[in-house]
Amino acid sequence: MEIPSKEFIFGNTKVIVRSPLVAMTKEERKKFFKEEWEKGNPVLKEIAEAAHDCLMSEYLRTNESKSKGSNNNTEIVINYLNKTDKQYCDDCLSEKLDIKPRQQINQICNKLKASKIITREKRQCNGCKEDKLLNIIK
Ligand SMILES: [Zn+2]
Repeated sequence: MEIPSKEFIFGNTKVIVRSPLVAMTKEERKKFFKEEWEKGNPVLKEIAEAAHDCLMSEYLRTNESKSKGSNNNTEIVINYLNKTDKQYCDDCLSEKLDIKPRQQINQICNKLKASKIITREKRQCNGCKEDKLLNIIK
């Protein structure tokens, strides 16, 4: 039996697909994939794995850049605290460094405190002059 084929034109390129799939209807194709999948057709499994790998690397890349962003803000906070001899609360740091929302500064400073890079003590803030937890670099 001859393998059915179908011609597609993409710009100047003629593509001829030779596969029993082209002669099938959408429903038949679905059934074919399902049956082949259940039989464990290695080509189908390979295609699925390739698609999965693609999605995974895309997913990892996006997450990497996200975590890089927060590392940069951590560096900005450390650099600023190293440079200044003043001590500020989370609100003032958030304003001065334009890192928002304020909760992000709070998270970063708590992490820095846990790593013993800074201490957090209740004193009068050099910015807002209120008694607040200030971030003091060691
Ligand atoms: Zn303040």
